[in-house]
Order: sequence, then C-alpha cells, then structure tokens
Amino acid sequence: MNLQEFERVNAVKSRLLKLAAGGRCEHCGEAYPLLLLVIHEIDPRSRAETACPDLQKEVLILCPDCHFFFHARPVEESIQRELVRYRPKEVKAAMRRILCTRPRTYVPPETGDPAAIFAEMFASGALDLCLNGG
Ligand SMILES: [Zn+2]
Repeated sequence: MNLQEFERVNAVKSRLLKLAAGGRCEHCGEAYPLLLLVIHEIDPRSRAETACPDLQKEVLILCPDCHFFFHARPVEESIQRELVRYRPKEVKAAMRRILCTRPRTYVPPETGDPAAIFAEMFASGALDLCLNGG
C-alpha cells in the first residue's frame, strides 16, 4: 500500500499521526491545519526490505512548502533520517502505536450480554475497524 492509499484508507490514523507531531511541520516547525499537513514517506523502497519495520522511522509530517522543497531539491535521505532521529521520544512512541496497531480478529463472546460483547469488541480492536470504515 502506498502512502496516498494509506491516507485514503486510514483517514483516522493519518489525522492521529499529524496530531502526534503536534499539528506542526517536522522540518520548519510551523503549525498548520491538519488537512494541509502531508505525511512524507522517506524512502518507499526501505520499508519492503525490513521484516519488522518501525514505520515511524519512514515518515515525516511536513507542511506543503517543505514537502515541495523535499521533492524539488531533493533533500538527502540522511538529512531526512536525522529529522526522524531528533523526533521527541513521546512522539515516536505515539506514532509507533498509531502505525503498528492491527485489529485482532473479532470473536464474539459466548454470552448475549451487550456489555460483554462491547467489552470484547473494544478489547479486540474491532472498534478501530468501525472508526476507519473497515
Ligand atoms: Zn515546513
């Protein structure tokens, strides 16, 4: 799945990633409306080479100007990875949670109690599927 497809399919996760970065460009630091911020993929080829990728290392949240600049120059991959390296620890952790959360298969409980069914759905991550439209 490429990044445009990821953003389309995972609109909620895309928004959460931008919020995790504080709604700011990770290059110039300017605050932008979330809709204008872009999730920039550093090197799409590196993701496929790693068995268990730490996906937050592969993306930067950029404003439209910086995103254009990153592609027009282009900015060296080592400089982009340096920006990721200096990303605050709590932002890295939040991005890992957002990118690595995979809902488990929903198995309904034996009981017909709606509270138990809801609790089981919530624990399995099935509600995330509901939020993301499947
Ligand atoms: Zn910027």
